[in-house]
Amino acid sequence: MTRIGVLALQGDFAEHLTMLRSLDVEARAVRLPRDLEDLDGLILPGGESTTISRLADAYGLVEPLRAFAGAGKALWGTCAGAIYLARSAPDLDRPTLGLIDIEVRRNAFGRQIDSFEIDLPIAGIEGGPFHAVFIRAPVIEATGPDVTVLARLEDGRIVAVQEGNRLATAFHPELTTDTRLHRYFVALAERAVPSKRGMA
Ligand code: GLN
Repeated sequence: MTRIGVLALQGDFAEHLTMLRSLDVEARAVRLPRDLEDLDGLILPGGESTTISRLADAYGLVEPLRAFAGAGKALWGTCAGAIYLARSAPDLDRPTLGLIDIEVRRNAFGRQIDSFEIDLPIAGIEGGPFHAVFIRAPVIEATGPDVTVLARLEDGRIVAVQEGNRLATAFHPELTTDTRLHRYFVALAERAVPSKRGMA
């Protein structure tokens, strides 16, 4: 059975675990380096990227997460998790993991539009647009040459990308009942491949 972990330091990890358990996968909360053992993939949830990165430092998770990626395991960051996974997040005053070649801007929609929901077509996800929930969301401002854009807002801003078996989404699929993106990620995790950029 496929085993997927959810980084459970802060944020909405419980919703991801619930959604994964509704699929045919074993889902595990990850708090310590040893929790990564035997996993095929890891989701980094939404929450507060500053807090998540601080706690990851405190729990000794940073190098184990990079090694996990370097072993070819799949990664998916949603919202704060996408910020933490990014190569660069200039307005985060903490180091990011640098495991997906994107630059993100935090809280990109400002105070006026704190949160919103839209129906978003996503490349590779069949069956119509995805109901996407954005909460104090980032946008992806730049992508590296190996990154594929999966979704853009109508104004062109990038909100979902894939690089190999790594995903970043600015929104929160775990807050809906639509399991398509979780199933897409599980399929990526099932064909893990060694990565050239694990120790970025
Ligand atoms: N605004 C948060 C941050 O910058 C992310 C919000 C979220 O994950 N819903 O970390």
